[in-house]
Amino acid sequence: MNPARKPSTAPGSPGALAFDPEAIRAQFPMLGATMHGKPLVYLDNAATTQRPRAVIDSVVEHWSTTNGPVSRGVHALGSLATEKYESARTAAASLLNAEPEFIVFTKGVTDGLNLVARSLGDELLGEGDEVVVTELEHHSNFLPWRQACLRRGAVLRVAPITDSGELDLDALRAMVNGRTRIVAVTHVSNVLGTVVPVSEIVSIARGVGAAVVVDGAQAPGHLPVDVQRLGCDFYAISAHKMFGPAGAGVLYMSPRWVDRLEPAQYGGGMVELASAEESTWITGPHRHEAGTPNTEGAVGLGAAVAFLGSFDRAAARAHERSLRDAIVAGLGQIPKARVYGPAEGAPIVSFGLEGVHAHDLATVLDAEGVAVRAGHMCAQPLMRRLGVPALTRASIAPYNTHAEVEALLDGVRRAGQIFA
Ligand code: PMP
Repeated sequence: MNPARKPSTAPGSPGALAFDPEAIRAQFPMLGATMHGKPLVYLDNAATTQRPRAVIDSVVEHWSTTNGPVSRGVHALGSLATEKYESARTAAASLLNAEPEFIVFTKGVTDGLNLVARSLGDELLGEGDEVVVTELEHHSNFLPWRQACLRRGAVLRVAPITDSGELDLDALRAMVNGRTRIVAVTHVSNVLGTVVPVSEIVSIARGVGAAVVVDGAQAPGHLPVDVQRLGCDFYAISAHKMFGPAGAGVLYMSPRWVDRLEPAQYGGGMVELASAEESTWITGPHRHEAGTPNTEGAVGLGAAVAFLGSFDRAAARAHERSLRDAIVAGLGQIPKARVYGPAEGAPIVSFGLEGVHAHDLATVLDAEGVAVRAGHMCAQPLMRRLGVPALTRASIAPYNTHAEVEALLDGVRRAGQIFA
């Protein structure tokens, strides 16, 4: 038995959470599927994770017993639905160590970051001001800032990475100056798994009074996230990257912003007073949630947070690390394979096979039932920095196993032979 598969806590230790990848795995109906007649090996978790039974059931139960108009109706069902929605906000707040009044429901990270780039961009940016992003950014934390800069006559600056795929913190420090109004960084790179030192970036930005926006898409599925410890102004997450539904996420807004920021959208549910002469907006997170919310998405997000709290996450991280190490070591033995990214990081491994296009490699893997990502991964500036048009990526969740890593490595060897 692989040591990483042992439950992490002694049976019977009172109140202790256990971690057993097979027990986790058994909770995910999708993982029992076959693809092309082979057992599904799902290694595209950075794109979207699978959903456990508890999340699936939470949505079905909501639809069956508590579905109603959130924050609208005076009737009992409206109240039940509102209670469900607001308790999901409390769950999301606890995940990020924030208070619920600073948690705004969104469609996900892209939606949250566009909201901030629109509202904060309009609030803070003027002619000649600067926004700093990094070469690691997903397009979702790059393009909204580029467009905000274009709108406001501001300048977008891109902090470089080192050759090993870490953020070059000294270069970022040198780039931040009296004109910097916003620093927007990813917490974890979706391509290289690089973990960015957000607290240090916050202290650099604070030195010039700049706001810090964090793309947390790849973080809470793997790492503990504490927005108060990080000290950032905004932190965006998507439920579907952490075992919840797609089209749902939250944006943490620090106390200094939630009531000050102009909403990015107007409509029902965010109004205090509406007339042609004068319109005013309510305070609190609902100010930024115009329209009928995605209640089922919020409910599923709340259930995903509960799922994340149901096992020993430190042990899950150790298991994910052992799988990552096994992939990196295995690829190191395959002629012409090359791994990109730092030695330490989140369990996301991007690699190339010399002479084989990333899509061809992923197609060979798919025929073996192995699902990986191939392409620019919505990070064209990073691909340009790495000098490649595309990469192949294996991204890990706690339900993955060493047998699945072997299936991945077999597939890569096979692709090497096919295209030799
Ligand atoms: N940022 C990063 C780092 C991501 O990995 C992703 C999803 N690939 C996003 C942003 C966008 O997230 P979503 O599609 O859920 O809005």
